[in-house]
Amino acid sequence: MAGIKDVLLQLLFALTPFVLYNVYYRNLEVNYSRKFIMITCTVALLLSMTFAPSLQSGIIFDVRYVIIFFGILFGGLKTGFLLLVEFIIYRLYLGGSGTIDAMIILAITFPLSLLLSSLYHHARKKYWITLIAGISFSLIPIIVLYITKPDYILTHLTFNLLVMPIHNSLGIWLLITLFNKSVTDKELYLTFIQNEKVEAINQVAASLAHEVRNPLTTVLGFLKLIRANTLNWEKTERFIDISIEEIHRTEQILSEYLSISKPLGTFQQHIDLVTQIKTVVELMTPYANMNNVSLEASYPSTPVYIIANPTEMKQLLVNFIKNAVEASAEMPKARVSIQFLQHLQRVQLEIQDNGVGMDEEQLSRLGSIYYSTKSTGTGLGLTFSYQAIRSMNGTISVKSEPYSGTVFTISLPLA
Ligand code: ADP
Ligand code: MG
Repeated sequence: MAGIKDVLLQLLFALTPFVLYNVYYRNLEVNYSRKFIMITCTVALLLSMTFAPSLQSGIIFDVRYVIIFFGILFGGLKTGFLLLVEFIIYRLYLGGSGTIDAMIILAITFPLSLLLSSLYHHARKKYWITLIAGISFSLIPIIVLYITKPDYILTHLTFNLLVMPIHNSLGIWLLITLFNKSVTDKELYLTFIQNEKVEAINQVAASLAHEVRNPLTTVLGFLKLIRANTLNWEKTERFIDISIEEIHRTEQILSEYLSISKPLGTFQQHIDLVTQIKTVVELMTPYANMNNVSLEASYPSTPVYIIANPTEMKQLLVNFIKNAVEASAEMPKARVSIQFLQHLQRVQLEIQDNGVGMDEEQLSRLGSIYYSTKSTGTGLGLTFSYQAIRSMNGTISVKSEPYSGTVFTISLPLA
């Protein structure tokens, strides 16, 4: 019984990096760093050695090889050597008759771990490497101890032949597969969310084509008139002015579109929220028109400064407005309106629509990853937007009634 308890405890320590990864990186838009592996493995090794069980005074066993191997595999050489030093110092401090054996075993398993981890990165069938590691980390200590302390091995034969291999093999297998699974999920999520940022704006592009075509037609008409030479100079000049203005506007829309549709940087800066919204409303108006939705916004007369990443801010505004337009597209007198409310320290932004609305159940699922009620939806728009708002220390609240409409209220701290 004591054996099972010890194995379970050691397995728990072995899984420390995996558990902490899922806690710490859960809501972050980055994947793990080597520093993270270094820190968690150091902690795991310390815990596993501190609470290591012992059958005979001076000889302890724990999941050290598992942790060191995992550390090298995901954290690189530096992590490996740090763990090696930690192990040597701590093991010397603990002392006892098994110290020398522990050093000998380590002198074999450490280079083996280096070798196996470099093989692992290139191997196609990675589970073979995991299996070999698990078996060697159990066999090598048994062989070394059998040579130096045959009595010890023979007295605790079942334990050494059963418990040791189980906790080493199971530990390695669990830690590596679970960790890998989480990391792959995260990678998938990161690509999805990156695509989604661009995807939302790509869907808007179709309606933008119209927006670009209108001024082109106007300019073309003017040019033809001027060519025909039937206009007086005054009129010609006015037409040229209008044409220049139209071309400028088109150029602006296109460059805004291009700036939003590129992947984000992470830096934040002072930005004027009013200008941001004006740009996004201009960009989204063709999309609203195409869906027979009127898009209205009222702005304060002075700038409202916040600290944010400008591209991220625009992308999340696109998401909210796009959702509102899509929700009200089928409604008679469909309307999306945007309003500012300024307080002392915060600014509130309301995005209201008179669309299909949501019931309690739908509301509770808002912002969860992949939640979408649309046939072509991705369910990532709000996930990204909620995260972005939180990263600016903002909050978000929703009020909605089925078939009557929705209000999203975003509250952001003023700069
Ligand atoms: P997608 O738009 O790809 O479905 P989102 O994350 O942008 O993904 O939105 C998730 C879901 O939230 C939508 O599918 C929709 O059901 C709901 N939703 C979001 N905004 C609104 C809104 N303004 N009115 C009604 N439902 C909404
Ligand atoms: Mg959406």
